[in-house]
Amino acid sequence: MNETRLRERIARVGESLFRRGLTFGSSGNISVRCDDGGWLMTPTGSSLGELDPARISKLDRDGRCVAGDPPTKERFLHQVMYAERAGTNAVVHLHSTHSVAVSILADVDPLDVLPPLTAYYVMRVGALPLVPYFAPGDKALAEAVRPLAGKHHAVLLANHGPVVAGDSLDDALYAAEELEETAKLFLMLRGQPLRPLSAAQAAELRRRFG
Ligand SMILES: [Zn+2]
Repeated sequence: MNETRLRERIARVGESLFRRGLTFGSSGNISVRCDDGGWLMTPTGSSLGELDPARISKLDRDGRCVAGDPPTKERFLHQVMYAERAGTNAVVHLHSTHSVAVSILADVDPLDVLPPLTAYYVMRVGALPLVPYFAPGDKALAEAVRPLAGKHHAVLLANHGPVVAGDSLDDALYAAEELEETAKLFLMLRGQPLRPLSAAQAAELRRRFG
């Protein structure tokens, strides 16, 4: 996809996420890898609901901003996913409410926060590790994500939100949406006996669709 169409696609995805309440204010950011080895990234301080395609940041292959507005201050979260996961072509980071809510619960398994409630969650997200809390902009957060990013395309930042990488923008988007809906289900079901997919059922899905 050429850069002009990619810019338009990012703006449409941002508007869709905003309209559905998956992001709000100036939170959340999207990046996509370009054919020239650089990236398009949503600008700092921008609402995903009102992105101007022409002002989306363009970074060169060395990560320097060469066009558009300055990129999101959370750019290092994106860069660590691209650096640690070969084949990553897009990253979506949201402060989506139900995912953030789950990231604040004290009694989740930090190695895998959500149980395998549905087949689509297993197929699109899989295991979801919790990254310890760091203040916004703290570069230590990227270093905490780094060892997990090689093994997981989705991670959940404690008291903050999910970071999801994908082979394409659609892949990253669908996984972020699946994560948010599963977090919502999990919260709806809190306190009730659960019958998640068994380890064998989850393994079968990974074998067939992994
Ligand atoms: Zn954030």
